[in-house]
Amino acid sequence: MSGEILVVFEHDRGQASETSYQAFGLARALIAAGVGSTVTAVLVGADAHSFAAGVGAHGVSQALRVHHHELTDYAPQAWGDVVAELVATRSPVAVVATATDRGSEVLAHVAAIADLPFAANVLSFDGLSDGALLLTRVRWGGSLLEQASLRSKVLVISGAPHIFSSDPVGNDVAQVDDVEATLDHTASRTRIVDRVTLAAGITLTTAAVVVSGGRGVGSADGFAPLVELADLLGGAVGCSRVVTNNGWRPHSDQVGQTGKRIAPELYIACGISGAIQHWVGMMASKHVLAINTDKEANMVGKAEYAVVGDLHQILPAVSEEIRRRRGS
Ligand code: FAD
Repeated sequence: MSGEILVVFEHDRGQASETSYQAFGLARALIAAGVGSTVTAVLVGADAHSFAAGVGAHGVSQALRVHHHELTDYAPQAWGDVVAELVATRSPVAVVATATDRGSEVLAHVAAIADLPFAANVLSFDGLSDGALLLTRVRWGGSLLEQASLRSKVLVISGAPHIFSSDPVGNDVAQVDDVEATLDHTASRTRIVDRVTLAAGITLTTAAVVVSGGRGVGSADGFAPLVELADLLGGAVGCSRVVTNNGWRPHSDQVGQTGKRIAPELYIACGISGAIQHWVGMMASKHVLAINTDKEANMVGKAEYAVVGDLHQILPAVSEEIRRRRGS
């Protein structure tokens, strides 16, 4: 099945992340499965245009710089509208993105506008059968894997984060073309009007170390040793849903099915039992350390390292030891 794969390149006012580039890995995996022959990057808004120079190294043959005076910041329906417009004019074989909050939102708009089926959170492609694409995807917050077959004139697919490679594959340079979007003013109804910075610099989604707390922390004040350790390690603080439900931490700190999905180098789970809805948010972590009083806790069983004991004793001791070794 030859043809063009459109990749929606995610960025936030010109800032891209590893997940942005994973969408190109997804497109290459799709080609390897027999769908599509070329990859085209869709760069929405002037802030993204500088990425056109580098996407060739990710297997992209053409970069489309989409212009419109309304495309100054992320606007889900407007992004969906311009991508749907490209689908109508270019007839690609597929449109893909990484299944981040934004990637999923934009592709949902594209699928609704273009009246196409949408396979979200794909993990792998399992080849073609009778013209249909066979794939495996995550459902129900990671509690089950679905094997599905997708048949459509345009395949709309998002890839589960941290599954497909974000690495460059060569030194090629993409052809760059400019596209003027004809955007209906109603498409920009949902727009960002204000931004509140919760934490300067390190964020939960980009931190290399996350110190995360659950019900076992006991209270909002109980998070002080977690914040201290996160600061010492240059990391961020996360939490479980019980914690946000109790108002101990803001929802922006929540990890899991209904929170953030993260992939730090080290995830330190303090007083978190390891329910599946939490696990799906941090299962892509490179290393997991559990601190829990219950040696039978799910998190203790699944973690690479575990310390069985009271987090209120263990965390201050760890911070003290770090300070002692640093001589501070
Ligand atoms: P608990 O399960 O109560 O575990 C507390 C742990 O702390 C226990 O293992 C205990 O041994 C340990 N502990 C107690 N005291 C100490 C101590 N002093 N020192 C060390 N350890 C101690 N949850 C999420 O986290 N994120 C989500 O996004 C999410 N989405 C959900 C979506 C749906 C639709 C549903 C139904 C649930 C969702 N949940 C989510 C809730 C999830 O099912 C669990 O209820 C929740 O993750 C449990 O949080 P916890 O581990 O903090 O609490």
